Amino acid sequence: MRNALTFDIEEYFHVEAFAGAFRPEEWPGLTSRVVDATERLLDILDYADAHATCHGYAHQMIHRQTRLEFAKDVQRAKTAIEDAAGTAVVGFRAPTFSITRKTLWSLEVLWEAGFLYDSSIFPILHDRYGIPDAPRFPHRVPVMNEHGIAEFPLSTILVMGRRLPVAGGGYLRLMPYPMTRRAIHHLNKFEKQPAIVYLHPWEIDAHQPKVRVGLMTRMRHKIKTGSTEVKLHRLLKDFRFGPARDVLENAGVLNAGEAH
Ligand SMILES: [Zn+2]
Repeated sequence: MRNALTFDIEEYFHVEAFAGAFRPEEWPGLTSRVVDATERLLDILDYADAHATCHGYAHQMIHRQTRLEFAKDVQRAKTAIEDAAGTAVVGFRAPTFSITRKTLWSLEVLWEAGFLYDSSIFPILHDRYGIPDAPRFPHRVPVMNEHGIAEFPLSTILVMGRRLPVAGGGYLRLMPYPMTRRAIHHLNKFEKQPAIVYLHPWEIDAHQPKVRVGLMTRMRHKIKTGSTEVKLHRLLKDFRFGPARDVLENAGVLNAGEAH
């Protein structure tokens, strides 16, 4: 079974955890590290397939935006990527997984903007994001009385009735690799479902500048960035991966060649 591999392309200073340390107005003055790290990711993947996923332009959590602001931001990001990459952008990942119960209206905005799928709903209980009782696997969310948009929730496994995030970001960095491998294997073999792995370029950038934030925040952000690249290599060796769109098609949640 193929799993989905996704990257949220952003600078280390864009992350919500550093919102107190860097204001968006300061971003243009900071030294960019995203290109180097992304090139390393592309080398690892030897990435030929160009199905892009869009991550917003200003990288602001959705609940801080009005519907109109959000619509403008995603359209700006979509157009920028489409112009640069020459390929249609059909998928969306919200900054800090900020599609929650309160911001479900954003799925309508995405659908109106021509997106075919979203992968922003974390079906867990978390202080900053998540819809704890959302479906765990790819499904369709009806919007505006239409067939709707496909949703690829972030991967979890059930441990004693609780949902544990397993396949991306800090969870992937913190968890010993054999546990991640077992979790994805379990999803594929026993639950017969694809996993979705996500990473950010800064998660393989062990030499990013030190940021003046609390120790906990700094730890959460930087922990094990030195070994994440090795984990990605091992994942690519142990599992088959493809773009989220293809995996959703295989799962029967998107139709081949679908557009609206
Ligand atoms: Zn992000």
